[in-house]
Amino acid sequence: MRIGGLKRYFSRRKLFTLLFVALAIAFWNSLPQALMNPDRSLALLDCKGRIISARLAKDAQWRFPATDSLPQNYVSALLTFEDKRFYYHPGVDPLALARALRLNLKHRRIISGGSTISMQVIRLAKKNPPRSIPQKLIEMIQALRLELSYSKDEILKIYANNCPLGANIVGVEAAAVKYFGRRAGELSWAEAALLAVLPNDPSLLFPGRNSDELKRKRDGLLLKLREKGAIDNESYMLALAEKIPQQIRSIPDWAPHFANKLLSDGVDPTKFVQTTINLELQQRCLEATQIHHKRLKNNHIENLAVLVADNERKSVLAYIGNSGLIYENDNAGYVDNVIAPRSPGSALKPFLFVSLFNEGLLLPDALVADIPVNFGGYQPENFDRSYRGAVPASEALARSLNVPAVRLLSRYGVQKFYHRLTQLHFNHINKGSDYYGLTLILGGVECTLWELVRAYSGLASIANGPVFKEYAFTELKTIEEHDNQEFHSSMEYSPGAVYALLEALKELKRPDHDGQWMHYESALPIAWKTGTSMGFRDAWAIGVTPQYTVGVWVGNSSGEGRPDLTGLKAAAPLMFDIFNRIQKEPRWFAMPEIDMTEIEICQESGFRAGKNCSHVVSKMAPFAGLNSPLCTYHKIVFLDSSQQYQVNSECYSPSKMVRCSFFTLPPAMDWFYRRTHPQEALPPFHPDCNISQTPVIDFLYPETDAKILIPRSLGGRLEAVVFEALHSEKDAVLFWYLDDFYLGMTESPHKMAVSPKTGNYILSVTDQNGKQIRRKVQITTGEKE
Ligand SMILES: [Zn+2]
Repeated sequence: MRIGGLKRYFSRRKLFTLLFVALAIAFWNSLPQALMNPDRSLALLDCKGRIISARLAKDAQWRFPATDSLPQNYVSALLTFEDKRFYYHPGVDPLALARALRLNLKHRRIISGGSTISMQVIRLAKKNPPRSIPQKLIEMIQALRLELSYSKDEILKIYANNCPLGANIVGVEAAAVKYFGRRAGELSWAEAALLAVLPNDPSLLFPGRNSDELKRKRDGLLLKLREKGAIDNESYMLALAEKIPQQIRSIPDWAPHFANKLLSDGVDPTKFVQTTINLELQQRCLEATQIHHKRLKNNHIENLAVLVADNERKSVLAYIGNSGLIYENDNAGYVDNVIAPRSPGSALKPFLFVSLFNEGLLLPDALVADIPVNFGGYQPENFDRSYRGAVPASEALARSLNVPAVRLLSRYGVQKFYHRLTQLHFNHINKGSDYYGLTLILGGVECTLWELVRAYSGLASIANGPVFKEYAFTELKTIEEHDNQEFHSSMEYSPGAVYALLEALKELKRPDHDGQWMHYESALPIAWKTGTSMGFRDAWAIGVTPQYTVGVWVGNSSGEGRPDLTGLKAAAPLMFDIFNRIQKEPRWFAMPEIDMTEIEICQESGFRAGKNCSHVVSKMAPFAGLNSPLCTYHKIVFLDSSQQYQVNSECYSPSKMVRCSFFTLPPAMDWFYRRTHPQEALPPFHPDCNISQTPVIDFLYPETDAKILIPRSLGGRLEAVVFEALHSEKDAVLFWYLDDFYLGMTESPHKMAVSPKTGNYILSVTDQNGKQIRRKVQITTGEKE
C-alpha cells in the first residue's frame, strides 16, 4: 500500500509536472503565427520625405510601411483614449476589466471591452474573431504572452501600423495621408485625436458620414488631453475649431512610371522608399510636359518622356515616363518611354567628337570635309541634302551634319567607337560593330532616354571636376540610401576634351532641316544636342548644365512618324522650357586649365599651325591636341611683282618674286566650299611660264585605298558600283580606265558605273589635257571566294 501510494503520489506529481509543462508550451506557442499581414503598399517618398507615388497592397488595402517612430501626440491621444495604464500592466488591465464589467452590467449591454492595446493587437492578428467570453479569455492569455516577446513600444507600433482606420485604410501612416494629406509626423493634435478614436468603431465613424458623432468623440478625447495637461488651453481651443475631414483624399501619383520601374527593379515595399526625386522639380516638369503635350497633340504626337538628372550626385530628380495618365490606354499612356529602346538619330554624335578630341585626332575648330561620299554603296546625306565642302568640326557637330560625322567615324574606326559606346553602357547597342557599320553614328542603333541622360550627365560630371569624375559613368541613383557603385565604367575622357565638346554644343541658334535658323530663348548657357530618327519617328533633345542634365523624347509609342517630329521642333522647346523652370541662376563649367594648353592654330583651317600658315592664333585646346595633325591647307606660292601671276625661277627673276601663303582646299572640298565662301583663288601662272595648271581633278568616290563592296540585287545579281570624280572646269571631259581597260568618258557630272570582278585595280581618270589622277581600289563581293 505504502509503495502503491508513493507510486500514485509520484505519478500524480509527474502528471502535474507534465500538465504544467504542456500548459507552458501551449502558452509559449499561443501567439498567432503571423502577427500581422506583411503585405504593404509601395510608398515612394521624394528626397525631402514627401509621398510622390503609392500603390495598394496586394489585398487592396492602403497599408503603408511601418514607421520606426510614432508621433508623440498620436501616442498620447491613443493611450489616453484606449489604454491609460498601458506602460504599467502586463498585457491585461484588471482595473479596466472591472470598470468594463461594472459599466456593462449597469447599462445591460456591451459598452466597454476593457481591452488593452496588447489585447487589441491579438484581436487584429486573429482578424477580429466574434466576441465571446471564452474568446476574450484566450485573448487575455495571448496578450500576456505577447508582452513577453515584445517591448511596450514595439506593441504600440504594431498596433498603430495595423489598426483599421475606415474604408480600406490601415495604420496611422496611411490614414494621415488619406484623411489629412500629410505624413503622420506632421499631424496636429486634433488630427492625432481623430485617428486615436477611429479604430474604436471604424465602420461607424467614417469621415463624411456621422461627422457629428466623430467630432463628439474627438472633442471628448481632446478635453481629456487638456485635463491631463497634455495640451494647453489655447491648443485645445484651436484643436476644437479644426474641421472633421469630409472626404478621403486620393494618394498623389506624381511619378507613376517611376514607381513601376522601381517595382520591376525589385524595390522593397515593406519600407518607405526614399527616392532621389525632387517633388517641386517633378511638378514643374509635369506642368511643362502638359503644356507641350497640348502643342504636340495638334500634330498627332501623343507620347513623350522627360528625365532630369543631378550631375553632381548622379541621381534622378524628375522622371516622366509618358504624357498622359498611366492608365490611359488609347494613346499607350502606360508605356514608359524613359526606358523604351528607340533610335537616337544624331544624339550619339557628341560621343564620337569627344573621343576624337580626347585622343588628339581632331581639334575642335579643325575643318572637316563635307563632300559627297560613298562607302561601299552607303551614301549618307546631310539633313538639308547640301554640302559645304569644309566645315569646322564644332560647327559640323552643332549643325548635326551627317556626312562629316560618317567620315569622322570611318576615320576613327567603327569597331573602336562601338567599344566606346559599350563602355558608356549603351546596353541596347549589342549586336557587334559589323552589324551596325557606319550607321552607328546616324541612329542605326537603339538606346533609351535613360542611357542617353546617364551618358550626357557623365560628361557633365567630368567637366565638373575631379571630385565628380570618379562617378561619371556609373548608374544613375534612384534611391537615396543606394550608392552609385552598381557599375563602374572604364571610360575615361579628359576634362579638356569634354569642356571643348560642351563649348561646341552651347550655341542657342541651330538650323533645322529646311535650312531655317531657329533661335531658342534661354538666359542659361546650356550644352545641347538634338536627335531625329529616320522617318520622323523619334525626336530627342538633351541639355547639360553643370547642375542638371535634361533629356526629352517625343514621339508616338505606336512608332508612327509625323512631319515636323524633329528634335529641334518637337523636343528642344520642351527641354528649354524645363531648364527655364528648374534652373534660375546661369552657371557654366570652369575651363579645366590644368587639362588644357595653348596651341598655335591656323586661323583658316583650325588645324595646328604649320610653317606655311599665314594667320596663326593661340587658343586653349585639350592637351591631346598637341599631337593633332598640322595644317596642310596652306601652300607657299611665288608671285610676280604685281602679285597677279604665279611664277617660278625658270621664267621670272627670283629677286623680284613675292613669296605668298595661300589657303587652298583639295579640289572636291574646294568646289563645294567656294559656293558659300567666295575666297581669293590662286592666281594663274604668268603667260611666260610654260607650266601646266595645278591639279584640278579629284575623286569623290572611291576614297583612298577603298575596299569596295559590290552590292547584290534582290535576285542575287551583282549590281554596278558608281565611281565619281570632280573637275574644276565645267566643260571638262574625263576618260576612265580600270587598270588598262578603258571604261568610257564622262561630262559633268562625272559618274561612271562599272561591275568589275573581284580583285585589286588601279582606277585612273584623264582629262582632255592629259592631266591624270589614279587611285588603288580593292573590289569585293563580300562573299568567300
Ligand atoms: Zn594653315
